[in-house]
Amino acid sequence: MQHLITDIQRFSLNDGPGIRTTVFFKGCNMRCAWCHNPETLSPSPDLMFYPSKCISCGKCFTACSVGAHILENGLHIIDRKLCKKCGKCTEICYAEALVMSGREMTVDEILFEVCQDKAYYDASGGGVTLSGGEVLCHTDFAAKLARACHEEGIRVAVETNLSLPYDHIRPLLSEVDLIMADLKLYDEEEHKKHTGLSNKNTIENILSIRDIPMIIRTPLIDGITATKENLRAIAGLLEGKENLIYYQLLNFNPLGASKYESLDAANSFSNLMPYNEEEMSAFGEMLSDINIRVKVGE
Ligand code: SF4
Ligand code: SF4
Repeated sequence: MQHLITDIQRFSLNDGPGIRTTVFFKGCNMRCAWCHNPETLSPSPDLMFYPSKCISCGKCFTACSVGAHILENGLHIIDRKLCKKCGKCTEICYAEALVMSGREMTVDEILFEVCQDKAYYDASGGGVTLSGGEVLCHTDFAAKLARACHEEGIRVAVETNLSLPYDHIRPLLSEVDLIMADLKLYDEEEHKKHTGLSNKNTIENILSIRDIPMIIRTPLIDGITATKENLRAIAGLLEGKENLIYYQLLNFNPLGASKYESLDAANSFSNLMPYNEEEMSAFGEMLSDINIRVKVGE
């Protein structure tokens, strides 16, 4: 059994407690316009092209059998309609200007990479984080991987939108030590408008899962999620939840911009800037009278 993985990031410090290795699954059921990992959205491989790294060696032009590499007014572009995503041009691009996002990997292959840093997990209280994409869209494979990690004595966290019915996600969650779940918007219609999906399952799962420690997070997007009304409604929902470690307000991450360019994908948030420290603190202050622990930023 194999699965498409976009990246395995070692020494990750922001994807849960301690030192972690984060495994990014490819394929997501939401379409948040501000997503900073656009290469993880589609469930099939994607060709990414970074012109700033290109040394104009021309090798990709000859490697591509369908002529998808084109010079247009002196500019090297890719005809995405012609590209068959075979990955041949990425294999000969030594400048790493061409990268295929999405590699078929087995549980054993991932486990081998993950086990390299076990000593660091043990020393720091870290482990593995299964992320994406949306890991719950790949429950069977993810559950096998999580089980294999546990057999090696490695703790497992998931980063998820919790958007699928509980019966579907139970096989994976029974192998998980920590859930880091995003609830972007409290209002269902607003949630549908900005993510493409209802938040009904997310809210139901957040309220009904009581036996696994949880961190609930909201990415702060100006004028959409970052409103007093939205943040107070979500924080209010979490009051009294005994397995909640904290509610986290995440600053906008602008690092996805170059990935959108590399995929020739539209980025409607290319001009959005992260909030400064003072502004982030002010969001935390908005929730000071609600009886939950709030963490602001990373
Ligand atoms: S192979 Fe890579 S470095 Fe060479 S022209 Fe193509 S993209 Fe540029
Ligand atoms: S991935 Fe394959 S089809 Fe697409 S541009 Fe590269 S060589 Fe051509």
